[in-house]
Amino acid sequence: GREIHLASRPTGWPTPDNFSLVEAPVPAVGPGQVLVRNRFLSVDPYMRGRMNDVKSYVPPFRVGEAMEGGAVGEVVDPGDSALSRGDLVLHQSGWREYAVLDAERTSALPPVPGLSPSVYLGALGMPGLTAYVGLLDIAGMQPGDQVFVSSAAGAVGSLAGQIARLRGASRVIGSAGTAAKVAYVRDLGFDAAFDYHDGPVSQALAQAAPDGIDVYFDNVGGDHLAAAISRLRRNGRAALCGAIAGYNAETPVPGPANLALVITKRLTLRGFIITDHRDRMPDFIKEMSGWLREGNVRFNETYVDGIEHAVDAFLGVFQGTNTGKMIVRLD
Ligand code: NDP
Repeated sequence: GREIHLASRPTGWPTPDNFSLVEAPVPAVGPGQVLVRNRFLSVDPYMRGRMNDVKSYVPPFRVGEAMEGGAVGEVVDPGDSALSRGDLVLHQSGWREYAVLDAERTSALPPVPGLSPSVYLGALGMPGLTAYVGLLDIAGMQPGDQVFVSSAAGAVGSLAGQIARLRGASRVIGSAGTAAKVAYVRDLGFDAAFDYHDGPVSQALAQAAPDGIDVYFDNVGGDHLAAAISRLRRNGRAALCGAIAGYNAETPVPGPANLALVITKRLTLRGFIITDHRDRMPDFIKEMSGWLREGNVRFNETYVDGIEHAVDAFLGVFQGTNTGKMIVRLD
């Protein structure tokens, strides 16, 4: 089986040279283990941070070793476990074609009628939970709030905006990087959307939210965060989920110049890491499954085929080549 190793650590934008595609023997299954063939690999913005040699909430990838990440695999050898050949499982040994997993910590995923199992890496997985928790628990969105979401055509953002609408937001505004994405976001039911390349974010947001906003779901940081701080009304709240605009910066990114408005407007800016909120998974799955079943939430997945293109897929999330969740499909 093939796997992607971290070949070297990038400074600034990663390049294909920072990765290598390595042929590795298919691992043997020991007691208490199962062998899976991965069918879908997740590539996510947070993985850029793991390429750096810094201590964070997840340990860095190691140079010369396979990278890790979310994946949906199919059991090909259940060993002595209760799993069966063909069962689909969600696990963290992505970036490779075959993986050996600890059977005790692995359970079969229930199939979702009409949906690809990759949904467990997107709308019914970590990005979906992030949208749900970030909006409802971290920002504490209330019915009647006006909500702004950045990277609104992305995995997390597209869901955050739709959840806001379903939970009674009075106006939902999104930003994205192309005209096609803006059209997509409006089609999902956002009341307004703009392409942040068309001019200063502060101007576009002022136009889209003439009365201001109560909640900002931040996936981007930078100009977007500064514009949102200017536009938030008194007692406004922002969930700081991601700051992708700065992930490939070579020097530390300065904070918003208008931070003092947090004081005068009594704002709350609250960061979070989704792995601290796994206890919300049952509520999330219950509610999101219902929304999906009834067609109240829609989502998109951008597929890139073949492990040999996994690096392109990963680099693509920083260039905006995905609409919805970026998925590497193996077959
Ligand atoms: P997305 O599906 O949103 O993909 C990333 C998108 O970011 C791209 O498609 C691109 O869209 C946009 N983008 C890239 N560069 C810029 C830029 N300079 N300015 C504005 N937009 C940019 O990814 P996810 O939904 O997986 O993640 C969204 C954010 O949430 C990320 O910041 C991620 O790190 C964070 N996150 C945080 C978690 C947590 O626990 N706190 C958990 C999961 C995700 P476009 O074409 O619109 O530019």
